[in-house]
Amino acid sequence: MDFALDARTRERILAAREWGRSHVRPAGLEADRLGKPLPEEHPYFKACVARGDGRTRWPGPRAAPRPPEPSAVVVSLLLAEETAYWDRGVMVANPGPGLPEPSVLALGTDEQKERFLGPFLAPDRPRWACFAMTEPGAGSDAAAIRTTARRDGDGWILNGAKCFIGNASRSDWILVQATLDVSKGREAQRAFFVEKGTPGLCGFKIEKKMGLKAYESTSFSLHDCRVPAANLLGGERGSGGRAGFETAMRTFNSGRPVIAANAVGIGRAALDEAMAFAREHDLTGDARVRDRLEWCARKLRMARLACLRAGWLADRAQPNIVEASMSKALAATVAQEVTALGMELLGTVGARGDHLIEKLYRDAKAMDIVEGTGQIQRVIIGRQLVKLPRS
Ligand SMILES: Cc1cc2nc3c(=O)[nH]c(=O)nc-3n(C[C@H](O)[C@H](O)[C@H](O)COP(=O)(O)OP(=O)(O)OC[C@H]3O[C@@H](n4cnc5c(N)ncnc54)[C@H](O)[C@@H]3O)c2cc1C
Repeated sequence: MDFALDARTRERILAAREWGRSHVRPAGLEADRLGKPLPEEHPYFKACVARGDGRTRWPGPRAAPRPPEPSAVVVSLLLAEETAYWDRGVMVANPGPGLPEPSVLALGTDEQKERFLGPFLAPDRPRWACFAMTEPGAGSDAAAIRTTARRDGDGWILNGAKCFIGNASRSDWILVQATLDVSKGREAQRAFFVEKGTPGLCGFKIEKKMGLKAYESTSFSLHDCRVPAANLLGGERGSGGRAGFETAMRTFNSGRPVIAANAVGIGRAALDEAMAFAREHDLTGDARVRDRLEWCARKLRMARLACLRAGWLADRAQPNIVEASMSKALAATVAQEVTALGMELLGTVGARGDHLIEKLYRDAKAMDIVEGTGQIQRVIIGRQLVKLPRS
């Protein structure tokens, strides 16, 4: 692995740093103070669109495919770390085709890319999309989802309930994971585009959560919700067999190193707060304080390297399931430990609840939960190590 950053990547990181300082951190603190997500009409989102954020990576219907950037994944991880340093909740709130985009790019038909990613080519306003897998009775065990899809003439009828779905109520469309037959487990899973305003897509309720207040995590229901046959991801031909479940796994595999990078960013912010506090309060002469700071810096460095290794493999189209899970398991734990050590060092100043360190402490926990909990990452790594097939 080559750790040198080219001039363009350095520039992009510096630009993300400047934007983070001037826009991302203030928006995150505002949402945290108010205890609710930034509204869709918030000036922050308009500013994002004005600077060209929130666009799809799809080049468009008639565009020649872009030559792949050799280090695209590594660069995206570095940017994900930098943005989460300023506020990970705001990063998820950012407009764009978000979590489902990799699945649509990989499996969507040309017509689906045009219909669902086309509006994100040069968005006229902030637009969102999201991916809905989790249900009240199916979180870690993704094969256990109970949302059903039944063929009905030239369409599909969806019934079920989803929860904790990021940006759901504001999304132009939701990629909903459903099953054609609950007795058949993952083989029967398919993904469907459900557009905003479709009759039967209802009951949106924004969940309360301990951190990451800037974006909405939302539950909703599907009651006899009818979508056209053309809304089955990949079409009839491209969605059979394990393709439907693979869709979800593809989303998670590409997402885990991003969560790891986010966790490193949160941890780095906590270490900077702890350092600043130690300097301001003349604590750097104390060997016990230096020992804590050293521990945090060393663990964060390890987590970043694990994360970049997962990205480096992805850039070379090499399997990275183990590395992706390792990076997420490691980085999420480190972020929780570093923010906890920061809280300890700041003592009553942190405990009052109005210092950034306390917010980072609350934000870090979700890194261990989303896109597969720490335990689930360890299950995946263990099974891969002993070469058991994926359960
Ligand atoms: C902030 C936030 C945002 C989210 N965003 C989204 C989203 O956008 N889209 C979406 O679909 N979902 C989203 N989720 C849901 C998230 O993916 C689930 O919370 C997660 O998969 C865990 O599921 P669960 O909460 O039902 O816990 P459970 O699966 O009930 O697990 C409970 C505990 O048991 C452990 N456990 C479960 N199975 C095993 C096992 N086999 N071995 C060892 N331990 C096990 C888990 O690690 C966990 O500690 C979000 C959640 C949060 C908190």
